[in-house]
Amino acid sequence: MKVGIVGLGLIGGSLGLDLRSRGLYTIGVSRRPQTCELAQQRGAVDAASVDPAILATVDIIFICTPLAAIAPTIRTVIPHIKADTILTDVGSVKQSIVESCTPLWPNFVGGHPMAGTAEQGMAAAQLNLFAGAPYVLTPTENTPQRAIAAVTEIAQLLKARLYTSTPDLHDRAVALISHLPIFISAGLIDTCINPDEAEAIALAQKLASSGFRDTSRVGGGNPELGVAIAQHNQEQLVAVLSQYRDRLDDIIYLVKNKRWQEIDELLQETQAARPQFLNE
Ligand code: NAP
Repeated sequence: MKVGIVGLGLIGGSLGLDLRSRGLYTIGVSRRPQTCELAQQRGAVDAASVDPAILATVDIIFICTPLAAIAPTIRTVIPHIKADTILTDVGSVKQSIVESCTPLWPNFVGGHPMAGTAEQGMAAAQLNLFAGAPYVLTPTENTPQRAIAAVTEIAQLLKARLYTSTPDLHDRAVALISHLPIFISAGLIDTCINPDEAEAIALAQKLASSGFRDTSRVGGGNPELGVAIAQHNQEQLVAVLSQYRDRLDDIIYLVKNKRWQEIDELLQETQAARPQFLNE
């Protein structure tokens, strides 16, 4: 199987590193020539170009551009590829992507490898990024089986944990465990840089340790990705942020009113529930 990767950033570059290391011939396309050169130097692709015509003979293409560029990128690629080429994307939001891309190409299946770092770009790409991480496929009832099978085969090569979902269910689930944490974490950091608290902030910066590192990590990541997630999963994000605000109001009430027993019950419940979300 000959693989194409369009958008040689953190996810596209990491995909290339993994697939080449497993013996697949990999062709990259990116917007900037220097990104194509870096991808070749780092061994993420066998060949790369800014010209999508280089994809003429590939069997499957992973679209790894930012969310807003996924459908426009598919439009630029289509004139250059074989009629039976399978297209898939890696976007963090699925409903809007599947809705806009499915009509463009019948052999399209939405996908989301759920791995990342706080960095972006080809320079940040790393081997084995997807090993042990979830990889969600979001086919519709019209998605060809061979498209699902081909992406499944690659997800297995990456040693990812494969799941299938509708695009809508995917977006509701990731709103809870991926998109909400980004904005809670951003709100946490923003609270800690309140200018009224200059003296406490100065000391807090010296005292911050593993707890702050864990809880602030996703709020300190790639701003472009966070904005794109908010734009593309707006409805679900507003819903879970509103639920979270209600939980915060409940907690403020409990603390203000010295309801220590209820606080203990809440923390017992959250302590017991947390492992159900950690597939370790
Ligand atoms: P990234 O590191 O910024 O890489 C995106 C690459 O796409 C850039 O290197 C850029 O290449 C190219 N690009 C940027 N704008 C473009 C445009 N308008 N048209 C064509 N190419 C463009 O981003 P990423 O983190 O890899 O994210 C890529 C996709 O993966 C997104 O759809 C995101 O939702 C998804 N995703 C991200 C994560 C994560 O944690 N980062 C996890 C799972 C899925 P040039 O240098 O050539 O401009």
